[in-house]
Amino acid sequence: MKDCVFCKIIAGEIPSAKVYEDGEIVLFKDIAPLAKIHLLCVPKEHYAHLSEWNAARKRVLADALEKIAALAPSLGLEDGYRLVINQGESAGQTVPHLHIHILGGEPLGWEK
Ligand code: 5GP
Ligand code: ZN
Repeated sequence: MKDCVFCKIIAGEIPSAKVYEDGEIVLFKDIAPLAKIHLLCVPKEHYAHLSEWNAARKRVLADALEKIAALAPSLGLEDGYRLVINQGESAGQTVPHLHIHILGGEPLGWEK
């Protein structure tokens, strides 16, 4: 989609530190990391919200979780990791292209 930063990264129009890519998803380092390791897992198809799910999108995301689990040890996440999907402004979603944050590489807090 025009004007979407993640679509531009997927198209190679904006540089990114990619750590994995296949036909359906790409994983790259977040530009403003909130943990020692902070990756973004982004489906290549542009849509913003889980409410826009259909069977194909559901399969891509389920497969993405399986791929993240398989890749985790090689990404430095062997001690554990946190997955976050921000949905909507109140949750802090700033890029309207669905993505999974992958955080880890250090002990993570869980306090308000
Ligand atoms: P959200 O706030 O929408 O859940 O997450 C968007 C994330 O994308 C943020 O953590 C932000 O740092 C990251 N981000 C925004 N623009 C870029 C960019 O151009 N390159 C990379 N690698 N990450 C970006
Ligand atoms: Zn997009």
